[in-house]
Amino acid sequence: MVDHRLPAALELRNLKVRYGGIQAVKGVSLAVQPGELVTLIGANGAGKTTTLKAITGLVPAAEGEVLFRGEDITSAAAHTLAARGLVMVPEGRGVFTRLSIQENLLMGAYCLADSHHSASTFSNAAIAALLEEQLVLFPRLKERLHQLAGTLSGGEQQMLAMARALMAQPAVLLLDEPSMGLSPVMVEKIFEVIRDVSARGVTILLVEQNARLALQAAHRGYVMDSGMITTSAEAKTLLDDPAVRAAYLGE
Ligand code: ATP
Repeated sequence: MVDHRLPAALELRNLKVRYGGIQAVKGVSLAVQPGELVTLIGANGAGKTTTLKAITGLVPAAEGEVLFRGEDITSAAAHTLAARGLVMVPEGRGVFTRLSIQENLLMGAYCLADSHHSASTFSNAAIAALLEEQLVLFPRLKERLHQLAGTLSGGEQQMLAMARALMAQPAVLLLDEPSMGLSPVMVEKIFEVIRDVSARGVTILLVEQNARLALQAAHRGYVMDSGMITTSAEAKTLLDDPAVRAAYLGE
């Protein structure tokens, strides 16, 4: 449920990012309200991943501002953000392949000890309860709890990466191409989970190349082309937009 009385969960104001002489992001402004699932779609190289990296401080912003729950985090160090409730699941997932599924999940909770949550959130009992919550959401992980993460399929690793992010109890979850490289059945499953997580009230910014599925799941969408936002609207409106259909929905 979107509550417009609160500051935006995440807001970008005229964000610009350069890699040497290449301007990858050319003045992006967008907002994600608390409880919203917003998707950022666009072709290869449009600047979507770079936008997420700039939000989380993995690449510096050349200009503009990133606000998280009304606070300026433009220059915040990447490693401090998870503890503040801004958590990214990167493209390629980044699970610890030599650790078990359980160990990976517990790593997700490490930042709770130094976080925006109350002390009771990171007691052993609370962490066990959080772990159990993820295993209900991701039954495949429950069956494989002591298996090494490196032995999971791509789809299962994606689920593990999402479950690990949820262990940090994010206020805002950033998802970078969660469907990348997965079989159609796994893609459907991942989107089911995204809808489910969103329905529980987690605010999500979803970067996706699978524009149709992303727009079907999202409340609103932004279309990015060559480093700029070209269109933004309710997701349903974008699904019906002839230009979006021709350029991004393969019609
Ligand atoms: P994709 O969907 O293919 O991942 P994207 O929309 O996420 O694309 P980015 O990965 O953000 O796009 O890339 C935007 C532009 O920035 C591209 O032209 C890319 O070549 C360039 N770029 C990305 N990372 C770097 C880097 N580390 N150094 C130089 N240029 C980069």
